[in-house]
Parts: sequence; C-alpha cells; structure tokens
Amino acid sequence: MYPAEVIDIRVMKGKSADEKRPEDHEYYVHYIHFDRRLDEWTTLDRIDVNSPVASSHDNEAGDHSRHKKKRKIDDSGDSAAGHGADSRDEKETLLEALEKETEEITKVKNIQCIVLGRYEIDTWYFSPYPDEYAGDEKMYICEYCLKYMKKQRTLVNHSLQCHMRSPPGRKIYDDGALTMFEIDGREHKLYCQNLCLLSKLFLDHKTLYYDVDPFLFYALCEVDAEGHHIVGYFSKEKHSQDNYNLACILTFPPYQRKGYGKFLISISYELTKRENTVGSPEKPLSDLGRISYRSYWAYVILSIFQDRSTLQTITIDRISKLTGIRHEDILSTLHSLNMIKHWKGQHVICVNRAVIDHFLHESAKKILLCRPECLTWQPPERSAKAAAK
Ligand code: ZN
Repeated sequence: MYPAEVIDIRVMKGKSADEKRPEDHEYYVHYIHFDRRLDEWTTLDRIDVNSPVASSHDNEAGDHSRHKKKRKIDDSGDSAAGHGADSRDEKETLLEALEKETEEITKVKNIQCIVLGRYEIDTWYFSPYPDEYAGDEKMYICEYCLKYMKKQRTLVNHSLQCHMRSPPGRKIYDDGALTMFEIDGREHKLYCQNLCLLSKLFLDHKTLYYDVDPFLFYALCEVDAEGHHIVGYFSKEKHSQDNYNLACILTFPPYQRKGYGKFLISISYELTKRENTVGSPEKPLSDLGRISYRSYWAYVILSIFQDRSTLQTITIDRISKLTGIRHEDILSTLHSLNMIKHWKGQHVICVNRAVIDHFLHESAKKILLCRPECLTWQPPERSAKAAAK
C-alpha cells in the first residue's frame, strides 16, 4: 500500500453515466512522492478507504515550486556568469511559469497506449493530442511520418501510401547501424509538431508543441533493410541567447537502457564543438535526462584525466574547450565526484587516480558515444562557404 491521492473519477465502461455507487467508478490516482509516470486509473477494490492520509495536493504543488525555484537559483548562485532570477520581474515570470507547469502536470493522462512501428508502448504523461483521439484503448502512429490515427485499419491503409522510410530533413550522421537526421522546424512543421506531441507522452516538463519554427530537431534512428526507425531525438533552439545546446531530449521507452541518451548528448556536444563554442542543456531536465547528463559529463571529464601527460596543466577552461561543456557543469560534476578542493582560497582540481580507473572501467562496458568521423555536419557558415567553392 502506498499513500496516493485521487485526481479524477469516472464512471466505469458499461455503466450508466449517472451511476452513483462508488464501486462503479474508476479513480485516477497519483502516488505521493512518486514520479507522475506511475499515475493510473484504478478501481475501488485496490484502494484502502479506511485509512485516509492528509491531502497533499496543495503542499505538493507548493513544494514543487519551491524546489524548482531553489534549484534555479542554485544553478547560478556559485558562478560569476549567473543567469539566475535576479530581478523581481524575473522571479514573477518564473513563478507564473511554474504555476502553469504544475497545472499541466496534474492533468490526467489522456492516451494510455500507442502503437509505434513494431512496438506497443504504454504512455507516461498527458499530451495535448486532439480530444477525439483520447479515450480509446490505443492510438496508432506511423513510425516514419509520425501521423497519428485512431484505428489500426487506418494505419494499415496509411502504410500502403506513406513512402517515407526515414525522418525528413538532412542525414548528418551514419555509422552503418545508426543514423541521425537534422530537421528544421520551419521546413517540416507538421512532422516536428507530431514529434513534440509524441514525445510529450514520455516527458513531464515540456510546453513546446506548436511553435516549432525556432527549433532544429535531431532524430536518431536504428537502420535495417526496411528503413530508419526513430529511437529518440533532441531539439535545439536555432538561436539560443543563453547558449543552450539542447532543449529537449528523449529516448523512446522500448529503446531505453541501451545508452542512446548519452549518444544523443555526445552528438549535441559534437555540434557545439564544431560551432566553436560551449553549451549546456536547458533546465529543468527530466529525471532521466539528468541521470544521462551526470554520467556523460563524468565519463568525458574523467577520460581527459586519464591522460597523465596533460594532467599537470589541466584547467576548467581547458576541459571546457576540449569538450564544449560549460564551466558550471564541469564544476558541479567535479564536486559530485569529490574532486574539487579549496586550497589557499582557490578551487583546485584534486584527481583521485583510483576513482578514475574504477569509474572508467565500470562505464566503458556500456557507454555508447557518437563517432565524430561519421558526423558530416558543419556549422551553417562553413557549409555555405564549402558550397560556394
Ligand atoms: Zn507515414
């Protein structure tokens, strides 16, 4: 038994709409202190109504905001180049955004299951698909153009006519097994909107659905004889004022735990390095996104430390130039690895050889990063010059 709160109630299928008996209803519950992806419809016999717990709804929403606000401030508090909520206006905007977000995430999951390619996938969160698509057992999605349909028959008919065998856009990566396509939100609006709707089913904090013009989308695919099957993606603002190099990142559930999250991150930093700059992901990250980033940063930074010849002269600045990772992210990673010490009023990187060897040995087995030589992408100016030659 877990403490839970009932978010919504509906009459069971097959019962009349004005049914009053509690056991003829279904209850949408949120398990307190658990991620919302576990929210579900359940029946009265699974609920212990005899030992009620205090309603946590207001408290939880409050905690959520406080937590978020605090984290926003923490993110910038230690660094000289803070982008934190300094002014009152900024704080108010932040609060408004948080309220809106809280409202969004308490919505009842509207689509329970999707069919995508050869997978049937249980969904995690609400996504603003048109109402007429909600409520059915399953929704059917063409894995190539991401068009969504109510009926399996419609999908079968669609598949006969749909000639796409990969995402639209430009292929920028190909290592034989995996490909990546760069898709401009303005040029392929419908596809990108469909991708946003689809990914919202698995992302808790995400508000972009329709205004896709200012974004580029990078879709990662597994390749076989049939075509390029999308396994995940990340999006990126075309012009980010804060130098964010990634807005949203997702690996679809059937492909999770294969290292694709860190693979996507490695491509995002490879693009950043080719742009001759440094970048950082937009906050807040999802819980799964945060785990991938932590592990990616630690792996990349410790790999640099492994080379003894450069160890004497290494600085945060140098690490940042080599990796495209922003100073704050390097510092927080080193802190979490307990490799920053204070010495004579300064921060000093304090490398522990045993930790490095152990960590790299452990993660070498499972870490999958992009092969830069398979990435044909160049920053827009350079591609233009190359084309002019
Ligand atoms: Zn299609």
